[in-house]
Amino acid sequence: MKRICVFLGSNPGTRESYGLAAEALAEVLVENGLGLVYGGSNVGLMGRLANAVLERGGEVIGVIPEALVQKEVAHDGLTDQHIVASMHDRKALMAQLADGFVAMPGGIGTLEELFEIFTWAQLGFHRKPFALYNVEGYYDLLTDFLNHISAEGFVMPAHRDMIIVSGDPGNIITRFAVYEPPVVDKWIERRSKL
Ligand code: AMP
Repeated sequence: MKRICVFLGSNPGTRESYGLAAEALAEVLVENGLGLVYGGSNVGLMGRLANAVLERGGEVIGVIPEALVQKEVAHDGLTDQHIVASMHDRKALMAQLADGFVAMPGGIGTLEELFEIFTWAQLGFHRKPFALYNVEGYYDLLTDFLNHISAEGFVMPAHRDMIIVSGDPGNIITRFAVYEPPVVDKWIERRSKL
């Protein structure tokens, strides 16, 4: 693994612990020689994480759509900043550049990015690991909901279990290194007829 993509809030959130968690993740990335790929912004938790990696001498690659550069939220001190045409191009390039994905606390953008990676994983379009960095139980309601949709027959348990959930960034990176995706067909009905 060379680089990890992190999806996280363009707002800082209400708790200082979210910012401290971003710094803890930065520490783990740099200690393990892993570069950061992220949305290229200098605002909110995104900016805090990027600066924490840069301050520790790590590599930070941003991928930002032209429209957000014009809104002046682009970080101008990164190792590399890719300016792309659209949000779709951004997600595709971030996915291509990274060997694993972490979602920290964030809002709708963070969830959307994470769930695209999850969707592609269950279809077998990529084999890369992905995790929820569950700072102070931020994602507990979401993991409960994932259990619910699996129990209701819309997601295979093996696919539900693909997502790594941990409040410890060191644990996430350790589990990434040994991750093996399940070999399971996505379609429950078709599978039960086989
Ligand atoms: P949100 O969780 O809604 O704050 O959105 C954060 C995620 O969406 C990040 O991982 C970014 O890739 C993208 N995003 C949303 N807003 C911005 C912004 N102002 N600057 C850069 N990226 C953003």
